[in-house]
Amino acid sequence: MRRPRRPEDYRDFKIVRDYSEKERDFKPSRGIDLALFFPASYRVAASSLSFTWVRDLLYSENVGVERFFFHRSFSRFYSLENLRPVDEFRNIAFSYNFEMDLFNILEILKKIHIPIRWKDRNSNHPLIIVGGAMTYFNPSIAYPIADVVYLGDLEEDVKRFSSALLKESKETSLEIFNLSPFVSIPRIGKFGTVAKVGNLNRFPPIGSILTPEGEFKDKLLIEIGRGCIRRCSFCMIGHLQKPARFLKIDTLKNILSEIPKSTALGIISATVTDYPWLDELLDLLEDRRFSVSSMRMDKLNLRLLKMLKNSGQKSFTVAPEGGTQKIRDILKKDIEDQHIERALLLGRKSGFDNLKMYFIYGVPSETEEDLKGISEIASLALKMGYKTVKLSLNPLIPKPGTPMEKTKMESIKILKKKRDFLQRSLKARGVKLHFEGLRESVVQYGIANSNSDDVEEYLDIFEKFGSKDLERFIYKKFEGK
Ligand code: SF4
Repeated sequence: MRRPRRPEDYRDFKIVRDYSEKERDFKPSRGIDLALFFPASYRVAASSLSFTWVRDLLYSENVGVERFFFHRSFSRFYSLENLRPVDEFRNIAFSYNFEMDLFNILEILKKIHIPIRWKDRNSNHPLIIVGGAMTYFNPSIAYPIADVVYLGDLEEDVKRFSSALLKESKETSLEIFNLSPFVSIPRIGKFGTVAKVGNLNRFPPIGSILTPEGEFKDKLLIEIGRGCIRRCSFCMIGHLQKPARFLKIDTLKNILSEIPKSTALGIISATVTDYPWLDELLDLLEDRRFSVSSMRMDKLNLRLLKMLKNSGQKSFTVAPEGGTQKIRDILKKDIEDQHIERALLLGRKSGFDNLKMYFIYGVPSETEEDLKGISEIASLALKMGYKTVKLSLNPLIPKPGTPMEKTKMESIKILKKKRDFLQRSLKARGVKLHFEGLRESVVQYGIANSNSDDVEEYLDIFEKFGSKDLERFIYKKFEGK
């Protein structure tokens, strides 16, 4: 650990140290081969299993990895493992999972004085690698920035990836990366293909850190399924992560036999209720505290909900997405009115008083009747006796790689009208509302649908005017398009 000399650096150091001290890390690190950045807040990073899983996967190949996160106030960045400053590392990787993280990646590079374009870096600069969920559907966003872009799941080529990181010289590392079919190296015009969904049974993804922060507070995360067997037309997981893979129940049984019963678990899957051995899973979890990442309304069962309630879960969360059958059919959600009613009843029967539901609005051909359908579902929940009903209302953001990729995002003017309509009809019923910011949604849509040429333009604007102006530029470019 190198202690900071300047008071302003000490402030950054202390923020990282405070989070680090709250973590219980079961796999202490060794070495400075890779600084692994989650270009998001600590809270967001800690909610993701990949925050530790990528690190642990690379540890198993003897790569020394330490994790970093983004904080708006940071001017220096220190690792969570050993509070090392990032300039000690010879490779820097960004796990790029959400469109808006692009701004944070650029901010981080700027703050650590590394040119944001690979073209402007030389052999003395660290190697900049980009991977993560964004590379599944639009890796070209990263092409003007990264020296190396890894496409898809790391498990597929972890040995080669690790051996490249362990090389002393940047040139030798690039030579090894060049051998991987899943790697793009823009400087030599090499473009790879996306690696398959990782084999969970060969590399069972289990967390190794407990932290009181994030969505799964003090829970050890276990991923039992990756990808999704469904085909919802707006969702990238359902279309790009195919075929879905599941951790076999016997493998899970062995894993759980090593974890003390007192350790609470976070069970991760695109839809836990689609796990092929759901009953056996519940048998294994019978005397444990746990929560799950998400559940389908058509596959819920009373036993699972009662177990979640007994585990201390306060709120029951589901995603009908559409207020009417017409909208759910357009979204290919494969959920009918009877599934929604049954799911809400099961929630009440299991003792839940608080309900949270996710909806999408701004869907093509949507009418007032369809929007009213959302308030009718909320009213049904209130009639069933839920004390609080919270709705998260998100505009449709068409994403590349999905059947909706050619759909235009609704204009801000229309979305605002729809939002006002929903606000009026739902507030009167005592429902709590959270609307995803419309401006930010347009920027997200813009980034998701950008290509390398667009990004070159964004980098110019970022260099000249900074993040705020870049955000404004992307908004103007894509609003109403
Ligand atoms: S929205 Fe959920 S159920 Fe539908 S494809 Fe995506 S992950 Fe699967």
